[in-house]
Amino acid sequence: MNNHLSERIKSMSTSATLAMAAKARELRGQGKDIIGLSLGEPDFNIPDFIKDAAKQAVDDNYSSYSPVDGYVDLKQAISNKFKRDNNLDYGLNQIVVSTGAKQSLANIAMIMLNKGDEVILPAPYWVSYSDIVKLAEGVPVEVPTSIDTDFKMTPSQLEAAITPKTKMLWFSSPCNPSGSVYSEEELKGLAEVLRKHPNIFIVSDEIYEHINFIGGHVSIAAIDGMYDRTITVNGVSKAFAMTGWRIGYIGAPDWIAKSCTKFQGQNTSGANAIAQRATITALEAPVSSIQFMIDEFHKRRDLILQLLGEIEGFRLNIPEGAFYVFPDISYFFGKTLNGTTIGNASDFALYLLEQANVATVTGEAFGNPNCIRISYAASEEELREAVSRIKSVL
Ligand code: PMP
Ligand code: GLU
Repeated sequence: MNNHLSERIKSMSTSATLAMAAKARELRGQGKDIIGLSLGEPDFNIPDFIKDAAKQAVDDNYSSYSPVDGYVDLKQAISNKFKRDNNLDYGLNQIVVSTGAKQSLANIAMIMLNKGDEVILPAPYWVSYSDIVKLAEGVPVEVPTSIDTDFKMTPSQLEAAITPKTKMLWFSSPCNPSGSVYSEEELKGLAEVLRKHPNIFIVSDEIYEHINFIGGHVSIAAIDGMYDRTITVNGVSKAFAMTGWRIGYIGAPDWIAKSCTKFQGQNTSGANAIAQRATITALEAPVSSIQFMIDEFHKRRDLILQLLGEIEGFRLNIPEGAFYVFPDISYFFGKTLNGTTIGNASDFALYLLEQANVATVTGEAFGNPNCIRISYAASEEELREAVSRIKSVL
């Protein structure tokens, strides 16, 4: 039957994060006591005031198709949020609401890339970037970074990666999977290179902007000369623990927004009406309403760094945002542990799953073969137990 499938789907990899989460679920179904640290998903409930807004929307009969690019009052709330949090002026014709930031990214790839266009991805990058780019027939160009530069791409690395075929640069800050946050100075350094190449567009994925432990999130679109060539991607999955409600959005030049709307008009007809109504309430709330989650992630980050730091062979950067640690575990390559030889990060992640019942994700999926990603969006108790199990099998 596989013969009947398109080359497109056959050449696509399965999302490693979702695959690991499914595997953990399956093993749990078989009665195994798996601690899931693979999926990047807040373990909090959606705040009650947002749930109430969704219930109200059901009662108010928001049951028809919404405008393809989102309700006007939601776009207004997004526009206000961009102004309030990012110092960015996006008019309503520059905003498109989608079924998660993942769809926003897929829209962008489909409307911006021609076959063979190169997209620079500072590695490690979020797992889906490369497959989304490939689906649109673009060519991902990975720029490897390491723990020694806090997993950040330098201006000279960017410059060296640019070719006449470079169409875009995609990156996230705070970064999934490394937790690294680009400072204003660092973004200015990248912008200086980009100013010399006016045909390169930027996807700035800011979905973790609020989960930032050093404060002062900076949007690259707010830096001189970048606004007209940046697509700022965001969503409510992370900050408001609304992953399953599937709302993401972009702020972009109006011609880009218009094409994204055209594209999703042939795909989804627009995002879920009830979740859009609830998102208005979420975005209108002051950031202080979600500060408790940010504080909790901060505490857990400190805890997991301390616990993992006690294990020989784990090299860690200090993530400044998001809710992941991305230890370099290459120390274990070539070693045999309880009869299993660890050849690479995938072997290591599998070993932790099978021997310690702890689900993590191999760094290979994020373009870094020396690391694994551990999500610390889990309770303190689970984190302590997971690290103690990891320690005992190493
Ligand atoms: N970008 C990054 C960096 C992410 O970690 C995620 C995780 N889900 C997304 C985009 C997509 O988010 P969603 O589709 O849930 O809005
Ligand atoms: N973004 C999350 C992660 O990286 C959710 C999973 C996904 O969408 O791939 O784990």
